[in-house]
This record gives sequence, C-alpha cells and structure tokens, in this order.
Amino acid sequence: MITKNVIVPTGILKIDDLIKILLSYCNKTQIDLVRRAYAFADSAHAGQMRKTGVPYIQHPLAAAHILAQMEIDPQIVAAALLHDVPEDTERTLEDIEKEFGADISNMIRGITKLGKLKYRGVERYIENLRKMFMAMAEDIRVMLIKFADRIHNLSTLDGLPEKKRQRVASESLEIYAPIANRLGIGEFKGLLEDLSFPYLHPKEYREVKEIRDKAITEKNTYLNQTIKITKEKLNESNIKWVDVHGREKQLYSLYQKLQRKNWEVTGIHDVVALRIIVENLADCYAALGVIHHNWSPLKGRIKDYIAQPKPNGYRSLHTTVFTDDGKVVEFQIRTKAMHEESEYGIAAHWHYDEKGARLPAKDLRWAEELARLQKEILTNIKDLEEMKVDFFKNRIFAFTPKGDVIDLPEDATPVDFAYSIHSEVGNKCNGAKVNDQMVSLDTPLRSGDVVEIVTDKNRKGPSPDWLKFVKTHLAKTRIKSSLSTAQGSWLKSFLKPKDIN
Ligand code: MN
Repeated sequence: MITKNVIVPTGILKIDDLIKILLSYCNKTQIDLVRRAYAFADSAHAGQMRKTGVPYIQHPLAAAHILAQMEIDPQIVAAALLHDVPEDTERTLEDIEKEFGADISNMIRGITKLGKLKYRGVERYIENLRKMFMAMAEDIRVMLIKFADRIHNLSTLDGLPEKKRQRVASESLEIYAPIANRLGIGEFKGLLEDLSFPYLHPKEYREVKEIRDKAITEKNTYLNQTIKITKEKLNESNIKWVDVHGREKQLYSLYQKLQRKNWEVTGIHDVVALRIIVENLADCYAALGVIHHNWSPLKGRIKDYIAQPKPNGYRSLHTTVFTDDGKVVEFQIRTKAMHEESEYGIAAHWHYDEKGARLPAKDLRWAEELARLQKEILTNIKDLEEMKVDFFKNRIFAFTPKGDVIDLPEDATPVDFAYSIHSEVGNKCNGAKVNDQMVSLDTPLRSGDVVEIVTDKNRKGPSPDWLKFVKTHLAKTRIKSSLSTAQGSWLKSFLKPKDIN
C-alpha cells in the first residue's frame, strides 16, 4: 500500500529498461534521440569501469533512468546519458554539439562547470557555495541532471574510500538537498538526504529506521482498513478522488523531527500518513469535511497549507484524527496538481503528461525565496527558453579575498561591493583591486571576480561623483546620507559652534 516514486536502480541496467519507461510518455523521434545518446555515450566510455567494478556506462544510464521515472523531457534524459562524456572521455563538447545540437551540449557544459566546484567543508562556505550553484546554474535543467547524477553516486558510495564517502555525503546533505528543497523537488530532496544519512550518522540512521519499520508493521493493517473506509466515505459524498494511499516519512526528515521532539516517538503522528489526492481545490476541503465528520480531529493539528503554502510552495491540507479504534492517523489532502508540484517542484515544468505533451509552466512561487527574484519576472515566464533560469543572468556573484560571496546586480562596481560589505568600508573606500589588479572605482564587476577594497582611514567620506555610476540602491542611499550628514554637521558647526559638544 505504500507508494514510492523514484526507485534508484541497483544491479545492471540495460538500455531497454530505460526505453520501456520512455515508451509510456515519449514519441518515436524522442526515443530515437535517447537511443542515439546512449550509443554515443556507450562507445565514448567503452572500456571504462566504475569504482564499484561495473562498466562506466551504468552510471549515466542510471541517472537517465532516475529522470525517466519522473517522466522528464527526453531531451534532458539524453543529456543525462552524455553528462560525463566531455569530462571523462576522448569525445569533446564540440563532438556532442555536432551530433546532438546546442541545447544538449549547453546542458552538458553546465554540468561540467558544476563538477569543478570543490566543497571546502567549512560551514561558512555552504551559503557561498549555494549561491555559486545558483550563478552557475543558468539553466535549471542542469540541476535536474546533477541531482540524478548525485543520487546515483550516493547509491554507489561503498565503492569509494571512507574519506571521499564522507565528503560526498556531507556535500549532498548540506548543499544539494537544500537546493532540491528550495526548488520544491521533494522527491530528490528525500533521496539525497536518505542516501547520505547512513554515511554521516550511522547509529542514528539505524535507530530511526527501526522506529519507522516498527511503525509500518504496527500500523499497516489498520491503515489499509482506514484507506478502504476513506474511499467508501468519499464515494458516498460524491467526491472525485484520484488516489488514496499511504506514505512513509523519509528517514532523515523523521530524524530531524525526532531531534526536535527529544526522541518522543509517541508525539509523532506522521511516521506513516495517508494521502488523499482529489481532482480540484473544492474537493480538498470537501474531503477534509468528510474526514472530520467521520473521525474526530486532534486539537491544533489541522493545517491549511493551501491557504498558507510553505515557503517552498508546498500545498496540502493536513489533519490528524482518531480513527474508530482510537488510533491516530494523519491525513494529507491535495489535488493532483499540488501533489505533482510537491514531488517534482521545478521539475514538473519538464514533466510530460500521459499524452506526451509538456505541461504548461505554472507560476513559480517556490523560486521567489530561492533568489529573492522579482515577482513580475517569475509570473511572466512563458516558455522553456525563458524557463532557463535567465533570472540569474542579471545577478553577479563576486568574492571577498576571504572567499565570501557578495551578490550584486549586473554591472555593479567596486563601490557597490564596498557598501555591500559595510557602510564604513564604502565611506572610506579609496581604491579597489579586482583579481589582484588595481582598477578604477567605476569598473563593472563580473561573476567570479575577487574584489579587494582599499580603504583610507582619513578619508572624509564618499565622493558625490560615485552617485553617477553605482548600481545598488544600498550604495546610493548610503552615499546620499553620508553626504548630507557631512554637509549638515559642517553647517551646524559653522552656524552654531557653541551648540556642538
Ligand atoms: Mn556523473
């Protein structure tokens, strides 16, 4: 009765296993493309082995397999098959472009770039790296492939030396999973966390797994019974339900909840929960009514994430009720669209429906938080070309000499950079070095620049000329306010010298 979505392949895969999945949502041309990509990758990686001792092609094939299970655009599936070719084989990005065109080769260029980012393990770099990811990921599709790549690598970590295992696992947990979460891809977030978890906290992993397994065994019978009754009651009320199923809480997420609740298992009611998927919004509330009519709800446990979605866009109604035999069950009620959004998030925009047509891009609320983007840009996104997170293109990410990232608008200058660090750094700014070269203060900065601000303690304040070239609102207001106070205090001391002091 428990539904699991993506199954990470174990064992040897064949191209036909992938094709079988694609047949459910792709046409012949698309399947041909994927076959060609496979043949190309297979010959490029010929003779190479994974650390686990299997032929290398198994890795890109598994990554493609993970994406195909989510019914992702076959163009992305093809790119997943080719994702390690330029980095690890004789064949180049140009070869790929010649064979498969610019769109696929651009995605692979993006992955190759991301692959070069090194995790430095120190907490304060995490936010920086996350921002770097955003800057590098000019095309969100690249992240989808990267997630699938990483999920498969995590599932084969045993082939690596201990130190590398730890690095890959903590990088996945601390960087990739939060990004997947912000993109609203619950499915990937859960896999990234649950696959990393045993390597980072083996003892806790075993404990949590035991708690969950126990709950599943104990509750299985009455949950199945509850599902049956729920379906009957929904039918009696003429509510068009699409599915009623059980879902297990993901292990790492359960671990975090257990920590918050001092390991009081009895207070956690969603170790296994029941999901009701309905056709439309009105049916969500109608179904909630049916549940509450039949079983009495636990006080303070009704949550309307439809009226008030979670920051990553998650929408559902949650309620916890006492079922007939006094047992406690949590229900999660949502529409099909909400369900898809919560599992796939941004990936839903490259998800194909049964007829093989791409679903229209809906509003992208989840991304608001992600990059604090202008709402207009987000809601006006119409097609795939615009979907390629172009919105990152008008932001740049420059570094302090210590490696902290400063997030600025395009064409921002060293003066904007200085004010972003601190208003005093701005006010005392006397010069700037970009990548170790002295530059003028109006030089436009680029992503990746390392900027060192030269300050002069004796400097009186900003120059009014700076207002002509600064790009950030912050710098403008600080410069203006500093100029006006400087003028004000000068005036004051001139007019009323005795009042000062
Ligand atoms: Mn790879």
